[in-house]
Amino acid sequence: MELQDLHSLGQTLNLKDRMPVVFVGHGSPMNAIQDNQFSRAWRALGQALPKPQAILCISAHWETWGTLVTAMERPRTIHDFGGFPRELYAQEYRAPGSPWLAEETRKALGPDAAGLDQEWGLDHGCWSVLKPMFPEAGVPVVQLSLDMAKDPQAHYDLARALAPLRSQGVLIVGSGNMVHNLRLVRLVTGSFDDFIKPFGFDWAIQANDLFKKLIDERNHQPLIDYASLGKAVELAVNTAEHYLPMLYTLALQEPGEETIYFNDVPVGGSLTMTSFVVGRPVEGKG
Ligand code: ZN
Repeated sequence: MELQDLHSLGQTLNLKDRMPVVFVGHGSPMNAIQDNQFSRAWRALGQALPKPQAILCISAHWETWGTLVTAMERPRTIHDFGGFPRELYAQEYRAPGSPWLAEETRKALGPDAAGLDQEWGLDHGCWSVLKPMFPEAGVPVVQLSLDMAKDPQAHYDLARALAPLRSQGVLIVGSGNMVHNLRLVRLVTGSFDDFIKPFGFDWAIQANDLFKKLIDERNHQPLIDYASLGKAVELAVNTAEHYLPMLYTLALQEPGEETIYFNDVPVGGSLTMTSFVVGRPVEGKG
């Protein structure tokens, strides 16, 4: 399902009772400060969703050995990128942390499955998306790291255990890119506009279409075993970290829940911004 206007999300998905889950293709960090089609969609999504109690973000940009959950009261804004305008480094996202959600997350995963972290903060995979989505920074944010020791199946299984948080008003956001190969990016204009203007290589579009087909069929196993999906996917997922957050979102899809796509656009040749919301359709739809 694709929505022209995310503002009408509430007419398509039942947003009460259980929080929807989101996967966001974050793309260039510039989306945090540019008014473009991607950041506008994030803003519309933030306005359409019920106000969360807290947000749990799984970002491509926090990889650790073992699973960690940020547990500080005041997470810092991390500017984990290079070669961008000074304005981007001046950005702060002062959302509070949530020791409550950190503890709930650890409990949901099992006390030995995750450790509490006091060092990290909010990396750009998290804040560049949440800033347009919730500009007031009033909702507490916690990050969950990607354990480099885990295979995709283990990530998926771990994510399943987060399901009870949705009933506690927690918005779970996976932030990465379904198709992401920075080594093969083609810059046409050489400006940051290259990451806004729709342009995708054949293999990138092919891989993205295959991912969407499997998502639509709720056929998650081949997506977990993506290494066997052939040459296009091999190029699309040359490293796992931007792809894995999508598995976290999919793992939380319950029977009967729909996926609604937005920002379904390739950029820079080798990235796709394709994003989706998972939730229960309103009565009579889906
Ligand atoms: Zn990224």
